[in-house]
Amino acid sequence: MPRITIGKGDESLIIVMSATASPENVAHVVQRLEDIGAEAHVSEGRSRTVIGAVGERQTVEQMPWEAFSGVERAVPVLKPFKFVSRDFQASDSVVEVGTALIGGGHLAPIAGPCAVETRDQLFASAEAVARAGATILRGDAFKPRTSPYAFQGLGEKGLELLAEAREEFGLPFVAEVLDPRDVELVSSYADLIRVGTRNMANFTLLSELGKQTKPVLLKRGFTATIEEWLNAAEYIYKEGNHDVVLCERGIRTFETATRNTLDISAVPVLKGLSHLPVVVDPSHSGGRRALVAPLTRAAVACGADGFMVDVHPEPENALVDGAQAIVPDEFAELMDDVRALAAVVGVAV
Ligand code: PEP
Ligand code: MN
Repeated sequence: MPRITIGKGDESLIIVMSATASPENVAHVVQRLEDIGAEAHVSEGRSRTVIGAVGERQTVEQMPWEAFSGVERAVPVLKPFKFVSRDFQASDSVVEVGTALIGGGHLAPIAGPCAVETRDQLFASAEAVARAGATILRGDAFKPRTSPYAFQGLGEKGLELLAEAREEFGLPFVAEVLDPRDVELVSSYADLIRVGTRNMANFTLLSELGKQTKPVLLKRGFTATIEEWLNAAEYIYKEGNHDVVLCERGIRTFETATRNTLDISAVPVLKGLSHLPVVVDPSHSGGRRALVAPLTRAAVACGADGFMVDVHPEPENALVDGAQAIVPDEFAELMDDVRALAAVVGVAV
């Protein structure tokens, strides 16, 4: 049977199975696709199974898929990324992270230190961001550093401290995973797993994250186009993990006044192309404390579903990224602005 490989421009149809479809119903659809020479990509999510059918358009589309048992609907998708596209799902995805919601009208303030350094440092930051209204704590145990000699994070000890902070302050937390070999470890602690800018195109890591059940926060590669980024999200989604959140964190341009150039237009562009929630990281894009509040306000005003900021009790003593961290009082003030803007935009915070 000739096989057609997925590539830019390949036509495809997404077949959405109903929540009550049986494994036999799924197998039957897959068999029929194979019979007509098409390729079936099965993505088994927690609530339903979706099948990406790639093949010659006329052949695939002429089948009465909606008459097959267990099929809810069949949607043609012309974009290179399929499951994450707005064509596939018109409504906004809402991602649940512990007690917090991201997307579909729920704005998530994510805040905390760049890296977990000590228990006191983490707890001071967590206490302050929880009090000011953050819904998710950030803090890293594994740090991707430009220099191999810089502080690399506390490893599992850092994850233990984050789990303790979650108990103490009632905030779910997000932490980065750098290596496919650590996915199981990070996923056993974190509520939301972050893929950093340097790993956006690490397809082995993305596939591993697609096979586990914790939601994933996928940062934009600093040299990635929006299409490349959505294809990276597709790698996770396709494996069965449908809880993916995109995070714009700035891209490398000719401009040197900022660490990276925050591509604020990515927010409305993504909203048009994809149903996934979009958050913005004003700390790693601006790279400077003074830019954090204005860039956060811009993100909320233009429709982001959340933002993630570095908050450190003593930025001057930070082991990582002190220059871009704001202090607890600044975060509390920023949250007042965020609440006012959220009311204007019509999102819940
Ligand atoms: C971070 O959020 O701590 C981080 C390392 O970000 P990025 O991957 O965007 O540089
Ligand atoms: Mn950082």
